[in-house]
Amino acid sequence: MKFTSNTRRKAIEYEKALVDYWKLNKTFEKSVEQRSKDESYVFYDGPPFITGEPHHGTLLSSIVKDAIPRYWTMKGKRVERVWGWDCHGLPAEVFTEKKLGVEDRRDIGTKISLEKYITTCRDNMVQTGNLWEDTIDRIGRWVEFDNAYKTMDKEYMESVWWAFKTLHEKGKIYEGERVLMYCTRDATPLAKAEIAMDNSYQTDTDPSVFVKFKLKDYNLQDIADPVMYNYSSKADKESSTALQEKQVEAHRLATENNYPVYLLAWTTTPWTLPSNSAIAVNRDVDYVQIVAGEEVFIMVDNHDLIDDVFIDKQNGNKRIEHTVIRSNISGEEFVGKNYEPLFAPVEELQKPNAFKIWHADFVTDEQGTGVAHESPAYGEEDYDLSRENDIPWVMSTDENGFFTMGPWEGHNVWEVNKQIAKDMHSTEGVEAWRGAVWKIDYIRHEYPHCYRCDTKLMYRAHPSWFMDIAGQKDRMLELNEDINWFPEHIKNGRFQKTVESAPDWNISRDRFWATAMPVWKGVGEDGKTHTKVVGSYAELKELSGVELDDYHRPWVDDIVFTIDGVEYKRIEKVMDCWFESGSMPFAQFHYPFENKEKFESSFPSDFIVEYVGQVRAWFYYMHAVAIGLFDEVSFKNVIVTGSVAGNDGRKMSKSFGNYTDPNELMDEYSADALRFTLLSSPLLNGEDYALIDKNVKDNHRKLAMVWNMYDFFTMYAEVDGWQWKGELSDPSSDVENPLDSWILSRVHQLNQEVEQHLQNYDIPNAMKPILPFIDDASNWYIRRSRRRFWKSDDDDDKQQAYRTLHYVLTQLSLIVAPFTPFLAEELYQKLTGGESVHLLDWPEVGYVNEQLATDMKSVRESISEALNQRARNQLKVRQPLASVSVPEVPEQYREIIAEEVNVKEVVWAEEVEIDTTISPELKREGLMREVVRHIQSTRKKAQLDVDDRIKLSLTTESTDLQAAIDEHLDIIKQETLAAEVSEDGFGYQELVKIEGEELEISLETA
Ligand SMILES: [Zn+2]
Repeated sequence: MKFTSNTRRKAIEYEKALVDYWKLNKTFEKSVEQRSKDESYVFYDGPPFITGEPHHGTLLSSIVKDAIPRYWTMKGKRVERVWGWDCHGLPAEVFTEKKLGVEDRRDIGTKISLEKYITTCRDNMVQTGNLWEDTIDRIGRWVEFDNAYKTMDKEYMESVWWAFKTLHEKGKIYEGERVLMYCTRDATPLAKAEIAMDNSYQTDTDPSVFVKFKLKDYNLQDIADPVMYNYSSKADKESSTALQEKQVEAHRLATENNYPVYLLAWTTTPWTLPSNSAIAVNRDVDYVQIVAGEEVFIMVDNHDLIDDVFIDKQNGNKRIEHTVIRSNISGEEFVGKNYEPLFAPVEELQKPNAFKIWHADFVTDEQGTGVAHESPAYGEEDYDLSRENDIPWVMSTDENGFFTMGPWEGHNVWEVNKQIAKDMHSTEGVEAWRGAVWKIDYIRHEYPHCYRCDTKLMYRAHPSWFMDIAGQKDRMLELNEDINWFPEHIKNGRFQKTVESAPDWNISRDRFWATAMPVWKGVGEDGKTHTKVVGSYAELKELSGVELDDYHRPWVDDIVFTIDGVEYKRIEKVMDCWFESGSMPFAQFHYPFENKEKFESSFPSDFIVEYVGQVRAWFYYMHAVAIGLFDEVSFKNVIVTGSVAGNDGRKMSKSFGNYTDPNELMDEYSADALRFTLLSSPLLNGEDYALIDKNVKDNHRKLAMVWNMYDFFTMYAEVDGWQWKGELSDPSSDVENPLDSWILSRVHQLNQEVEQHLQNYDIPNAMKPILPFIDDASNWYIRRSRRRFWKSDDDDDKQQAYRTLHYVLTQLSLIVAPFTPFLAEELYQKLTGGESVHLLDWPEVGYVNEQLATDMKSVRESISEALNQRARNQLKVRQPLASVSVPEVPEQYREIIAEEVNVKEVVWAEEVEIDTTISPELKREGLMREVVRHIQSTRKKAQLDVDDRIKLSLTTESTDLQAAIDEHLDIIKQETLAAEVSEDGFGYQELVKIEGEELEISLETA
């Protein structure tokens, strides 16, 4: 194969051309097909939401999803890669609602038919996929789009039904009630993991209110000898005697006048007060009695908290006059007592256990007042307490967060939250609850919001279906030990903690567009509710005689059937879309209805990768489903990436303008440079990384050094007519020049390091040696070997140099193929004419000569030090020196050192030192070098080719220059390819200055 100079293409040109080339030649398909099915390496693609747009984050995971499979393909594995789409769930519904202009969930099924809504959802999902394909192609990711699985597919949903029924039969799914984070706008509970995934907390200002609950049957007079309080806060500087007198007096007034006694509770959600049905204190915590005005308050014994309560923040932080009259009161004193309800109790609350005081461990003396107002429908701990103690509770709102009872009926809770505090603080009017709020402060705190629609969330008791995580938690932790996590700390860190702290999984949603929950219920004549869980469409047909094209709501809702006289209707709930994506390993194959063998041979997967947010989400859910169903891990190796941040370190956001669109960035600096930048960044160690365009640009420039080497190679190969014989064999045993041996050893070493780290999924360390290698090859091997290619006589050394450089560049194309597939392909094809580097095997590691590496390192260090000394002495490198002394290395390096340092003699010594004395002879030689340099640059300006022979004339009035020219005329002729030197003037002329003396150069082609 012959080579032609100037055949290098711009990155954007070859990258776009190769996308087409690979498609046309089905290179991806071939790379998969050529490997045996027995050698499969399984990769699971975490499906993106179909309505999302590709951004730097999704591109990052796509790049890893490309690099690792490319590597394993080269290692001989069959790595099938099929795209997947997450089509269901809230993101898809919010997208559709926006398109349809739905603002209120209650409009669905009323103003707009459910049928139209679902049809629109489906249409939207089908339309939005194409945008991805172009960008994914552009980044160079090989993946099959045509057979992409979609979670909305009929077959996919049937597998989800099977999983649900199987888990239900195993007793791992149950129906219950739970207080969950709940979005009132979307009228659905949200899983904690969803909230935790992308920081969904926002800083809100809420009323921080102190509420008086009047104790019943509690007499101050009963305490004969109160324990006075040693109150010594900063706010109270009175002497202890005066204080004590004040306390005695306050106690006397309170008992004689029978002041009312209140428990002082604290809350930031006054909207929950109408549904209050209990109060909790802690029996292991001490409380105090405080007189303020003509009332007695009970709160926890904590100086800071007392100070905080009795400061009027709305009024210049003035101290509110108060006196502690008794302390050391155990919480036990209040447990079991009754208090007066704030509002007239509704029917559900007219029960024995309502409006009592209970002990609860979750109450502490560190926050609020140590007295907790309990509204079991709207608090997790409240609800648990009510369950344990059979406390009645009531729901005061509808599913969209509007009050269905009480003074604020019809209002949305968040809209009137502050107003409620104010209304209850006001003492105007006759209602019993007027004045129940004793004080209002305001608090700024982090509060969860819906990650999709931004609505402030509430906690709310909700009938739901759960997967029993508690029952399999130990097994989940045990099998986690079998998973290879990169970075490793995630394994026993974030992931283990996620599993340890996980509640049972709420897998039901009160929405529309998702896999319908396969649960039908009917009420028998005895009034008992019967439940039927269906696990396949065939089973449903058997029960009902009905078969559908589409098992989404509303059509599936219409299916009813009768068993033993009981008519069953489907419950309206749908599945959590995380249960669907967690089912991906089998549902993508419609297992167990089809592809049984295919599933079994591809489970568990060898590899998955997603960003760190998915540790609590997809990774966790897939693990939960796999262990629930198969008692097996679903992935063996996993890479967790960090998040890509904008150039200012903040989250990437269009409104911040802190990032360049990925397509623009790729067109400017190449897809390979973007890939290289992301893959070699801390992102692949699971850390966050601010993407700065300059870093992509720098990598583009560094990678382009490969093309400078290619240009160099083709330029000389063309001139010399050097041909490659079509064999990719290692020339190590045939080369004699230490530079050749060294660079060959270096490329083997590179191969070894990249492979070793890729085997461990350690991409950052795999990539670390690549740029240093390119630098070595370009700035040492080629620079040092330049003259070997330059020599006109076709000797063995030159042949070896060509073979070595060709081999090294070709090997490089193989080694970088997983990371920068375009550059690798272009380089490989241009050097070999082969079909594709991606159809090749990963190269065997050749002999790495450690001694050679050590010697060359020593040589380069000596040279570097000698050149530093030259610089310090202001001696140009072109000026030859008499000698340099350097630490001893094998004889073969002597010439390299002499040339690099430009000295006549190399002497072995302990330390590096140059001889700075310049004799007249050396001076003349130095001048000659200047002359040659100017002639060469004149040649270039005259636009001559490197191998053009010239006629040359040199004219100067300087005797020194003339002497130098005369003495070294032969060298000048040889170096500048001057066939003749005469005193005639030639076509191209240039007047230059050397050390202040003029020299006229004129030349033309001979
Ligand atoms: Zn929402």
